[in-house]
Amino acid sequence: MINFNVPPVVGNEMGYVRQAVEDNRKISGDGPFTKKCEQWMCDRFSTPKVLLTTSGTSALEMAAWLCDIKPGDEVILPSFTFSSTATSFVLAGAKLVFVDVRPDTMNIDESKIEAAITDKTKAIVAVHYAGVACEMDTIMDIAQRYGLRVVEDAAQGVMSTYHGKALGSIGDLGCFSFHETKNYSMGEGGAILINDPQLFERAEIIREKGTNRSRFLRGQVDKYTWVDWGSSYLPSDINAAYLWGQLQCADEINENRLASWDAYKRALQPLADVGVLGIPTSPEGCKHNAHMFYVKAADLGERTALIAFLKERGVQSTFHYVPLHSSPAGLRFGRFSGEDVYTTRESNRLARLPMYYGLKPCDLNTVVEAIHAFYAGRY
Ligand SMILES: *Cc1c(COP(=O)(O)O)cnc(C)c1O
Repeated sequence: MINFNVPPVVGNEMGYVRQAVEDNRKISGDGPFTKKCEQWMCDRFSTPKVLLTTSGTSALEMAAWLCDIKPGDEVILPSFTFSSTATSFVLAGAKLVFVDVRPDTMNIDESKIEAAITDKTKAIVAVHYAGVACEMDTIMDIAQRYGLRVVEDAAQGVMSTYHGKALGSIGDLGCFSFHETKNYSMGEGGAILINDPQLFERAEIIREKGTNRSRFLRGQVDKYTWVDWGSSYLPSDINAAYLWGQLQCADEINENRLASWDAYKRALQPLADVGVLGIPTSPEGCKHNAHMFYVKAADLGERTALIAFLKERGVQSTFHYVPLHSSPAGLRFGRFSGEDVYTTRESNRLARLPMYYGLKPCDLNTVVEAIHAFYAGRY
């Protein structure tokens, strides 16, 4: 079976993990490897502050608190996303307002955001699906005009850029995931990029169980105490050590994935050209990170047949996201703004192909040949 994901391993991770355990004798949070990873991300993504978290979900939870979401506030987000994007804001009491996606990128349709804004709206959450950037200039402009916070769910967008800026570094806050299904992994983990300096101190407090311990450790206060509510969002330095190994090889991982992505595109372009298959696009000025390669079949029936056909040939392919607005929790916590023109229709067509660091060209060929075989009899 050609798996649809294989977690990345570059080979240097265990050396760093051993160092954390045996040399540093520091495996709780905020140890040397956590600091290294955070500094690396600040430098690489040109952002003033990064905090490692226990997951992408916890980074999003922190973002919701930092946006000062109160019960009854509204948050605008796409319906085509992972549950974490939504549930993090629901925990803070938000009412979700789902906006349709663009069919070309599956990202929130920036032209439909303004119509969803009410006097209760507090924030816009831009999910960079498949590591392809949302139209951030438009989104930031809307947010500025209405006084809204912007949170980037860049869980899939680590190392992608939008007009030269790293995804996650553009909004007030950006959230990364280092789950093993993402491009860089620490098993379970994530990071929050805090781009608005006014939020630095509160972010540290929320992540340190509501205490000002971070200021204490820097010698800025002479004792630390409970100052606000918060939670425990610090990952173990063992996990950070593992991630450090991967960040050392970030470019290698990125280039390897991009090579697979380009190979898929070359091989499937002919089917796209005759109009039988949709393939992903990356708008002008957006450099993606090959998080995902998906295809779009004609409709739900054809997609179901395609996934089954691939499975028979040893290729694991999966659909993505039952749109949240039609899920049981989505119905309870949110509403769809305007008409669902593309969200349901396009998500029904989408099938993800195997994509991971180290995907072998011969395996990629097997996938591509199976897709060509499926369509050979159909047009
Ligand atoms: C993976 C993912 C998350 C959650 O990240 P975890 O690290 O698994 O908590 C959130 N949003 C999106 C869009 C994701 O793909």
